[in-house]
Amino acid sequence: RENQSPPDPTKKTLVILGSGWGSVSLLKTINTSNYNVVVVSPRNFFLFTPLLPSCTTGTIEHRSIMEPIRGIIRNKESDVTYYEAEATKIDYENRVVTIRDHSTEDSKDERQLKFDYLVVGVGAMNSTFGIPGVQDHACFLKEIPDAQKIRKKIMDCIESASFKNLDDADRKRLLHTVVVGGGPTGVEFAAELQDFFEEDLKKWIPGIAKDFKVTLVEALPNVLPSFSKQLIDYTERQFKAEKISVLTKTMVKKVTEDTIIAEATRPDGSKETLEMPYGLLVWATGNTVRPVIRDLMANLEAQKNSRRGLLVNEYLVVEGTEGVWALGDCTATKYAPTAQVAAQQGSYLGGLFNQLARAEDLEQEVRALEAKASQTAEGSAERKSILSEIESRSRRLRRSKSLLPFEYSHQGSLAYVGSDKAVADLTLWAEGNFASGGRLTYMFWRSAYLSMCFSMRNKILVLTDWVKVKVFGRDVSRE
Ligand code: FAD
Ligand code: NAD
Repeated sequence: RENQSPPDPTKKTLVILGSGWGSVSLLKTINTSNYNVVVVSPRNFFLFTPLLPSCTTGTIEHRSIMEPIRGIIRNKESDVTYYEAEATKIDYENRVVTIRDHSTEDSKDERQLKFDYLVVGVGAMNSTFGIPGVQDHACFLKEIPDAQKIRKKIMDCIESASFKNLDDADRKRLLHTVVVGGGPTGVEFAAELQDFFEEDLKKWIPGIAKDFKVTLVEALPNVLPSFSKQLIDYTERQFKAEKISVLTKTMVKKVTEDTIIAEATRPDGSKETLEMPYGLLVWATGNTVRPVIRDLMANLEAQKNSRRGLLVNEYLVVEGTEGVWALGDCTATKYAPTAQVAAQQGSYLGGLFNQLARAEDLEQEVRALEAKASQTAEGSAERKSILSEIESRSRRLRRSKSLLPFEYSHQGSLAYVGSDKAVADLTLWAEGNFASGGRLTYMFWRSAYLSMCFSMRNKILVLTDWVKVKVFGRDVSRE
């Protein structure tokens, strides 16, 4: 599972971990002919996560938002090696990454990769806060298999609920979906599921209509905490109109195979324990650090006080290291863990590596010219011309070495809230924000995400999926 061209001994080896927003954006920008580039990721494709919630109900087919890593590296300036593997250990002292084959679940095939430069873009895992039962009974929504599992489970619950002689309480339980976490993932999933019910399920399986229910549970006083107040209110009103029940100030404490136990804070400050029977539970309470990153942090003195992820400096160099960079959700920075941030960090690092390569080339040229000058006669015309050449290249070298720190430019936040409506907090000018919600915003949401899809192929597939759903409805078969 690798391109077999041997590494060029004259070039530095750059190992990139991950094939997500950060790493792929770096791959797009970097001139790979300057390095021996090796990409390691257990996922052999890039995933356009903003449209993942739509895959849970079949609004979009999952392959439409996947782009094979092989296709991405094939078009680069020179060969890039790819390993479908997971990094299990980063040994900074010896500059070695241990990677484990990921082609089969029980594979133990490990190998070690030496690196000169390392970029860590492994993203994050779903957080459960150690709440009992979550890991065993909840579905998450981060990767394609998660979306497929949810899609299947929705139909499982509905078909089981339609089975004759089921008692009333059991039928209601199976038709109750609870979404925990009122951040954008939870909100978008709840919206997609309610759309599926209103537009398709109700027509195809009318027997479930009176008991189908979606509940969104959020520990804070409101959903979408990172959006502006006006859009939070709009979303909560919109959910009420769509009959999605929203329980705020409600913290889930425990999960069993069919019930959620939560603690709600009443307006007078008193606490109430709620028990919610469920058929499907989707857990969307944000991110936590992956084991490989936790291990690296434990082995670097400068990282010992970090909890949320790798600390990096303004050039994205991992604190306490040289020649190791990190980007995206595996880092702890002042920015939110979003695709927007990871993608900008990736293209920044791509530019930085191109600049480093230019500086190294110039350094070699200056050294060669200096050696040549030392062999020419003092005061000769040839020597004068070489010295002026050295001067001009040294100036370019100084410019190449003066690196600018990473600067994030926030373009805004978008979220789908159901019934062909979306909310958008946009940054239109340096200090100004523009907030909008509704159908027009939804048209904007669609066109923005369509234009951001990785390739023309992705764009056409996504557009076709939208048209298909408009014409035929979503597919309710269980596979
Ligand atoms: P990821 O994109 O998660 O990529 C991590 C990569 O590392 C993957 O390829 C993974 O397979 C690989 N990997 C994992 N472990 C290892 C290992 N041990 N060794 C090697 N490789 C490894 N953000 C927005 O800005 N806008 C949105 O609309 C939006 N919508 C979202 C919707 C959903 C459902 C989700 C879950 C997230 C959404 N986000 C959105 C957030 C966004 O997806 C993340 O912030 C972004 O993916 C982070 O990029 P990353 O490169 O750090 O990590
Ligand atoms: P999040 O961290 O944004 O939200 C998680 C929510 O879960 C929080 O509001 C938290 O209060 C709540 N929560 C935590 N524990 C709880 C408990 N026990 N009971 C009830 N509620 C609990 O997580 P996310 O929505 O998965 O998003 C992760 C990142 O991805 C964020 O940076 C987000 O901006 C980004 N994202 C963006 C979009 C978008 O822009 N459309 C979509 C999805 C994700």
